[in-house]
Amino acid sequence: MTSQQVWLLDKKFREEKIEETPYCQNVTKNHSGRLTVAHIEKRRHLTVRWNKRNAVVLCLGCHRHFEDNAKEFRGWLLDNGYTKLELKELRRLASNNLRDAVYQDP
Ligand SMILES: [Zn+2]
Repeated sequence: MTSQQVWLLDKKFREEKIEETPYCQNVTKNHSGRLTVAHIEKRRHLTVRWNKRNAVVLCLGCHRHFEDNAKEFRGWLLDNGYTKLELKELRRLASNNLRDAVYQDP
């Protein structure tokens, strides 16, 4: 997979995700900035990079806040439709080491 293909898939994934959920899902906080797609397991894990359950729509402000507060993000996920089992399953899928086999950063 080339970096161009990854870029195109990222773009499509982001557009579809935001079309499905056109608002910041963190409804209790003050928002700022454009809508972004926040990954639960990091994007470097290609096995879950385009998995819709591995991502939530957040405004840039909330995205940055959760990036700096991983524990709070996990708690928020559990309060917003994710189960511990599902988060564990995403972790398991992410740890399948596809990355090195098919993708290298340019
Ligand atoms: Zn927000």
